[in-house]
Formats: sequence, structure tokens, C-alpha cells
Amino acid sequence: MNLNNKVCIVTGAASGIGQAIAERYAAEGAKVVIADLNLDAANATAALINTTKPGMAMAVAMDVTSEDQVNAGVAAVVAAWGTVDVLVSNAGIQIVHPLEEYPFADWKKMLAIHLDGAFLTSKAVLPHMYKQGSGSIIFMGSVHSKEASPLKSAYVTAKHGLIGLNKVIAKEGGKHGVRSNVICPGFVKTPLVEKQIPEQAKALGISEDDVVKKVMLGGTVDGEFTTVADVAEIAFTFAAMETNALTGQSLVVSHGWFME
Ligand code: NAD
Repeated sequence: MNLNNKVCIVTGAASGIGQAIAERYAAEGAKVVIADLNLDAANATAALINTTKPGMAMAVAMDVTSEDQVNAGVAAVVAAWGTVDVLVSNAGIQIVHPLEEYPFADWKKMLAIHLDGAFLTSKAVLPHMYKQGSGSIIFMGSVHSKEASPLKSAYVTAKHGLIGLNKVIAKEGGKHGVRSNVICPGFVKTPLVEKQIPEQAKALGISEDDVVKKVMLGGTVDGEFTTVADVAEIAFTFAAMETNALTGQSLVVSHGWFME
């Protein structure tokens, strides 16, 4: 399996998991689009990839909650590289509060980034995939697509929602050769998680060490964080496997924290 010259858009690829996926795809021969809210960081990631893979990465400014920005970003990619073969809908944030204190504005922001973002980016790339009769859409879910934790009502709701959207796209896309799958990582030490450690310690009234050892990793088989490389490996398989045998699925990568 390889991704030679496949055009792959990765949202939220200026940091963390998305960045690792973009780097992995480029290493496998893909042309990668670093689509992110943070254009400076996206440009830096693209420049880094272009030092080893000249011309294989481009940065695009994209707020995935904006239909205009999503459509303009996808149009820019198609103008530059002709089509879109792979979409990794990965951009995401975390906001934690107990439900009774959860600000409605934060709830709406969370659902917009995780669900509107997944919908809008999928809607924008599907016509190109249908036209060529092939494509792969990958949603960044979470163990929280299958399991709940206190303080994360909006995140858990949104990540569960992705499982439904994924199955619909798999059913609609099948006859067009378009597959759709979800990756469900456990805790990965990225800026998104680093930010949560002190927040959860405060909200739960425990030490930061206990947040990591008991809350985040207590349910794993070995007390280990999942890594960005682990997630990128699964993202590679979902992108590169070319048959509809693997569609409509969600795969948990979490050191056994959640088992199905
Ligand atoms: P991160 O904070 O390192 O990176 C997120 C990226 O998304 C950033 O570059 C940010 O600028 C971008 N972004 C945020 N809002 C955006 C928007 N509206 N439009 C476009 N880009 C936007 O986070 P990460 O840990 O790499 O998370 C990536 C994805 O993985 C998220 O969907 C997250 O929910 C999911 N996830 C993370 C973990 C974890 O433990 N880190 C576990 C499971 C799932």
C-alpha cells in the first residue's frame, strides 16, 4: 500500500495528531494539504515537510466551521493539484465543564468545530471523489466516540455523532468507491491534552499527577499514552487501503483503555 501522488487534506494539521498524519502521508509519497485555523503554524508545518519532500505540502487557511472558508480551501487545493483523494477531518478542541455550568456558547462552539467541520469538509470533497470514483474520508473520533467521561458533555456528544455521520457517508459513498472510517484514539500527549491536565485537576480537586495516572491512563493495560505515530499508522491504513472492504468502521487505538 502507498499514497503516491494522492492529494490528502488534513484539517488541524498545524499541530499534534494532524501534523503527524500529514508528515506520515508525505513520507508515503502523498501531496499533503495542511488546512488549519492557524495559518502561520500551517505554513511552518508545510515548510518542514517541503524541506524533505519538495513541493509535496501546501498550507491552506481554513476555519472548518466556516462554509465559505472550507469551500475556498478545497477549491484552492483542486486548482493546484486537480482533485482530492483523502480527507482527514481532524481539527478539534476540548472544553471541559460540569454540565450544569457548561456555557451554551462553548457547547455550540464544540459542536460546530467537531460536527459542522466534519460535515462541511466532507460535503466539499465528496463531489471530487465521486467524479473520480474513489476516495477515503477519515474522521478523528476518540475513545469518547464510544465511552463517556465527566466534564466532557460536548466533546462526548460530538465524537459520538461522528460515528453516525461516518456510517451514512460509507453507505452513500460505496457506489462511488468512497470509503469512510473513524479513528478513536485514547489520550495522546498533544497541546490539546497538555491543556486539560491542570483544568481537570482543578475541576476534580486532585493532583495533576493523578489526572494523568488515574483519569487519563488508569484504564489502559500499561499506563502508556497513545502516540501521534500510533494514530498516523492507522490513518495511513485507512487512507491507503483501496477496497470498500474497510468502510463504515471505527477503530479504537488506546492501549486497551476501551475494548469492544
Ligand atoms: P492539537 O491542539 O494539537 O491540534 C488541533 C489543531 O486543530 C490545531 O492546529 C488548531 O489550530 C486546529 N484547529 C482548531 N480549531 C480549528 C478550526 N475551527 N478550524 C481549523 N483548524 C482548527 O490537538 P490534537 O490533540 O492533535 O487533536 C486533533 C484531533 O484529535 C481532535 O479532533 C481531537 O479531538 C482528537 N483527539 C485527540 C486526542 C488526544 O488525546 N490528543 C484523543 C482523541 C482524539
